[in-house]
Amino acid sequence: MSTILIFEGASGIAAARQLQSNNINDFVIIDALPFVGGRLLKSVVKSRVQNATFGGAQVELGANWIYGHGDNPIHRLAVKHGLQTVPSDKSNVTYFDHTGQCMAEKEEKEFNKALKDIGNLAKLRMQRGLVDLSARTALQLEGWHANSSIRAAIEYFGFDWELAEPPEVTSLDYAAAANGGSVIKDQPDVTPGDDFVIDERGFQYILRAECDALLGQDTSRLVLSTKITDVHYGQDNVTVFASNGDIFVADVAICTFPLAVLQSGHVKFHPGFPSWKREALFNFHATTYTKIWMRFSKRFWPLDTQFFVYADDVSRGHYPVWQTMPHLDEPVLMATVVYHESQRVEQMSTKSLQKEVTQVLKRMFGPKATAPVEILVPVWKNNPLFGSSYSNWGLGMSEAHHRNLRRRLGRLWFAGEAMSRQYFGFLHGAWMDGLEVASAVEKCLPDDPNDGYNIFCLI
Ligand SMILES: Cc1cc2nc3c(=O)[nH]c(=O)nc-3n(C[C@H](O)[C@H](O)[C@H](O)COP(=O)(O)OP(=O)(O)OC[C@H]3O[C@@H](n4cnc5c(N)ncnc54)[C@H](O)[C@@H]3O)c2cc1C
Repeated sequence: MSTILIFEGASGIAAARQLQSNNINDFVIIDALPFVGGRLLKSVVKSRVQNATFGGAQVELGANWIYGHGDNPIHRLAVKHGLQTVPSDKSNVTYFDHTGQCMAEKEEKEFNKALKDIGNLAKLRMQRGLVDLSARTALQLEGWHANSSIRAAIEYFGFDWELAEPPEVTSLDYAAAANGGSVIKDQPDVTPGDDFVIDERGFQYILRAECDALLGQDTSRLVLSTKITDVHYGQDNVTVFASNGDIFVADVAICTFPLAVLQSGHVKFHPGFPSWKREALFNFHATTYTKIWMRFSKRFWPLDTQFFVYADDVSRGHYPVWQTMPHLDEPVLMATVVYHESQRVEQMSTKSLQKEVTQVLKRMFGPKATAPVEILVPVWKNNPLFGSSYSNWGLGMSEAHHRNLRRRLGRLWFAGEAMSRQYFGFLHGAWMDGLEVASAVEKCLPDDPNDGYNIFCLI
């Protein structure tokens, strides 16, 4: 008899799928959440790939975009499961400042050129073995200065909106130069094209369907609503304790807890992590990206534009990116904030939030703009099961740090979006990392299952 423990999430399901493809079926998947996907209680975030009913339709609280077609594994799953999407086009954008609509073509071109130039600069510097820079320093070296509100807003839309952190704290070599891992480069057949998921079953459907196919009738291998409190690991096995009193013992565990959970100490590891692991964990950035869903009594914005970018005259990143939702029957807008603004918005009362967004909308659209009648804000930063929305490679994080971040401790392996060297932060990164770590685990298992191994996967 043999068991592997896996913790859930996209990376956990990918890991389990990889094991099963090699006839290793003795795994258990565990998660604190009650569902792999499925129904959602309003404003309760259940996973980083999750949807909620809002404005009479399903809207995504976490991941929403699929980056790249063809050999992108997430795109393949979307096609396999008939996920409904619409093309997303960042160039379909109208700019606004505090006086209304404004022109920004020249600045936009300048920024796009600077972004390309810093990619080349990073390549050159890495070839020469030069020290990493912040993306801010690199942008300045290439002649880009965010010295007006409109320039700051353009920069935000092209940078912070993807990486969820500003150029000051972001690594040039590992994050900025690689677009934060959104573009899959090591698969020859990935073709450009970003899709926005609008499926009524939710984006998480692809994970739920994969999990159902994986487990078949044997649902005993999926252990939900089970919050892990302690993980004891060593050279011989891994023992996991849950808050409901359950205890799991296995020969191997694949731990996919989000980075912020590993940083937080909410789960106790025994023995405690060695100093090289702690340094790597605390050096990687767990950051927050918050979607603010708003429903209005009537539509007052044009529908032929996908994005509105607002340049606040006082504060960079003050409700800067707005998205129209023409596929929804109800008048709904989604605004995004990141980083410190996310933390602030998560803690605000709905009334204060309503007041602030209405003020911004009136600056953009004039007196015809009205206050939203309903607002939905998912909580990531203050949710102990996540602690952030995803990771970013900050300045000061070396490749060696990242190798230490994912390095296994005895029988305890680590997988998940933050562990992906190239695609950290993204769903495809989580999926690909789950596959990779499970392949590495397979190589360490005894050839004969009768020798007895237990694999234990945490979702
Ligand atoms: C707001 C937002 C927007 C995003 N947008 C995109 C996007 O458009 N495109 C894209 O590619 N990516 C996007 N992402 C990132 C993507 O969703 C994640 O990278 C990916 O889902 C992470 O998968 P994972 O398996 O690494 O971790 P997770 O899915 O977080 O899995 C880890 C699991 O660990 C569980 N857990 C935590 N603590 C415990 C405990 N004590 N006991 C038991 N279980 C526990 C959690 O419940 C969780 O289910 C977004 C994320 C967010 C939050």
